[in-house]
Amino acid sequence: MRQLIAGNWKMNGLGASLAEIEVLRDTLASRPARADILVCPPATLVARACAVAGKAIAIGGQDCHPEPCGAFTGDISAEMLKDAGATSVIVGHSERRQRHGETDDLVAAKARAAWRGGLNAIICIGETEAQRARGETLKVCASQLLASVPDRAAPDSTAIAYEPVWAIGTGKTPTLAEIGEVHTAIRSHLAGRFGDAGRAMRILYGGSVKAANAGGILALRDVNGALVGGASLKAEDFLGIIRASPGASS
Ligand code: PEP
Repeated sequence: MRQLIAGNWKMNGLGASLAEIEVLRDTLASRPARADILVCPPATLVARACAVAGKAIAIGGQDCHPEPCGAFTGDISAEMLKDAGATSVIVGHSERRQRHGETDDLVAAKARAAWRGGLNAIICIGETEAQRARGETLKVCASQLLASVPDRAAPDSTAIAYEPVWAIGTGKTPTLAEIGEVHTAIRSHLAGRFGDAGRAMRILYGGSVKAANAGGILALRDVNGALVGGASLKAEDFLGIIRASPGASS
């Protein structure tokens, strides 16, 4: 399975930041990535990012509303992201689950909206530090998978991102064995529910991935890519992670 290295810029980036995408584009033109590359800038930059990204870098959104249009001030729909040139959208990121009160049901509705709008959905799940301390990691992930991943999920339009909440932006990461344990459990859940489609769906790891730890993480079985926050903002840092990808994984 070809890996996906995705960058989530969160609420960072002005027009000048497009220079980072230009560096990525030019560097990957001279030495192509072995993995698929996606950058999700803030919505204000999606169209301009698409204009500079070239063919080797896909551009995505960070969230979408379940509805295609309507009286939802400040929101953005999957159709709008698609219209701006996006190919994917992140849904259910823990920052939205925690700070915007997003429930599993809402995340599932956003994933369905992504497909309706012609986008791939990257559906995020992951446990808090307290849940891990209580030994609930696998139970929490299973319940989020069941309720946030709609029945129609298919490998060409869906990726799962396992992002332990306590590892996001903290510099802390689970051990490789802990990441492997959760990814194996996610794969077994997906295979049990979706059969071959579940075996072919990409499972990304996210949470303080950087060039120094990416090689070990991306070599794990059932880790089919990474969702990268802070280390995706600078082309040089992101390229370090892109180069660490073996390209394909099982
Ligand atoms: C994220 O925002 O999805 C993320 C994983 O952030 P970071 O890489 O900064 O931990």
